[in-house]
Amino acid sequence: MSNPEHKIRLSKSVVGGDEKDAIARVMDGGYLGMGQEVKLFEQEIKDFLDTSREVVCVNTGTSALQLALQGLGIGLNDEVLVPSLTYVASFQAIAATGAIPVSCDVKIENGFVDVTDAAKKVTPRTRAIMPVHYASNSSEMENVFEFAKKIGIRVIEDAAHSFGCSRNGRKIGSFGDVTVFSFDGIKNITSGEGGAVVSNDTALINNVKDIRLLGVEKDTEKRYSGNRSWNFDVSQQGWRYHMSNIMAAIGRAQLRKIELFGTKRRNIATKYAELLEDFNEINLLDINFDNTIPHIFPIRVLNGKRDFVWEKLHSRGIECGFHYFPNHKLEYFKSKGDFPVSEQLGLELLSLPLHPEVTDRDQQRILSELTQIIN
Ligand SMILES: *Cc1c(COP(=O)(O)O)cnc(C)c1O
Repeated sequence: MSNPEHKIRLSKSVVGGDEKDAIARVMDGGYLGMGQEVKLFEQEIKDFLDTSREVVCVNTGTSALQLALQGLGIGLNDEVLVPSLTYVASFQAIAATGAIPVSCDVKIENGFVDVTDAAKKVTPRTRAIMPVHYASNSSEMENVFEFAKKIGIRVIEDAAHSFGCSRNGRKIGSFGDVTVFSFDGIKNITSGEGGAVVSNDTALINNVKDIRLLGVEKDTEKRYSGNRSWNFDVSQQGWRYHMSNIMAAIGRAQLRKIELFGTKRRNIATKYAELLEDFNEINLLDINFDNTIPHIFPIRVLNGKRDFVWEKLHSRGIECGFHYFPNHKLEYFKSKGDFPVSEQLGLELLSLPLHPEVTDRDQQRILSELTQIIN
C-alpha cells in the first residue's frame, strides 16, 4: 500500500518527558489534590506576567469565567454583554451564575466585540462586559475599557486565546480589570485542563479563592500549608472548581516552554498570512501577530464556499475548524435582534491547523490543497 500523507491536526497538546516527570514527582509526593504545586504554579504565572496582581487557578477556563463573575457579585437576572462569536463556554459561564448573556455583534475585520453594538444593548441591569481576545487579538480593548468606564460596568477579559500575549509592551493579565485564562488541552499552554483568574481587586480574588473550594472560608491557605479546615464557615454558594497538584505540575512544565511555543505559533501564523495574502476567495482577518502567541488561525472563505472547502480539506487529511457558530443562534441562548456580522463570519470562518508542531511542509501542503480546491 502506498504511504498516505499523514493527517495534519487542527490543534494538539505538545507534551512529553517533562510533563511525565512532573506528574511522577507529584505522585511520589503522595498528594494529588490541591496543595504546594498549585501555589507554585500561581506564583510562576504571576512572575511570568510580571505583575503584583493575584493569580487564582481553577479546574477549567469556563469555571474561571463563572467564578470571576460570581466573585464580583454578578448573578440572578444581571446582564453581561458578550460577543456572539465565541466559544459557548463564555455563554455557559455567564448563565451558570444566573445572569443573562446578552449577545453583541462583532467587527468584520477581526471578530472582536463591536462596542457600538454593545452600547445599544445596555439596560439598567447591565453589570459587565466580557470581551473575547478573538484569535489572540486584544487591540481593541482600550475602546472596551472606555465604554465600560463611561457606564460604570466591570470588564472580564476572556483571554482564553491570549495567554502569553502582550499589548503596548505589557503582558495580558498584568493590567485591566479582571483577566481569565484557559489552560485546556489545546490552548497556548496546558495543565491538562485548567484556568486562572487574575486581578488587582483583592476582594474579588479572596472571594474566588473561597468559592473554588465549596465556599469554605480561607481554605486555600490551609491547603497550601498541607492542612485542611475542620472548623469553618460558609457564607455563599461554592463549587469544587479548584486545580489539582497533578494539573499544576503539568502547567508548570508547560510554562517553561512558553517562549518556544510562542515563537513557533507566531512563525506559523505569519507564514500562513504570507502564503494566503493574495489568494482569491480568501480574506485574512486584520490581526497583527507581533507580540501575540496566536492560538487559532481563522481565515474567511468567501462566496459561500466555506463548507465545501472544509469538506475537501478534511477528505485530504487536513483537519480544520469553525470558530465559532454564533451563540445567539443556539437553542438555549437564542437572542432577538440582528447580528449580521456574527452570522456572516459564522458562515465564512475556517480555522487552519495551528499548533507548535505544524511544519513548513504541512503549510506548503495546505497551500497546494487550497489552491486545487478553490481554483
Ligand atoms: C477555551 C475557551 C474557553 C474555556 O476554557 P476551558 O478551559 O476549555 O473551559 C472560554 N472562552 C474561549 C474563547 C475559549 O476558547
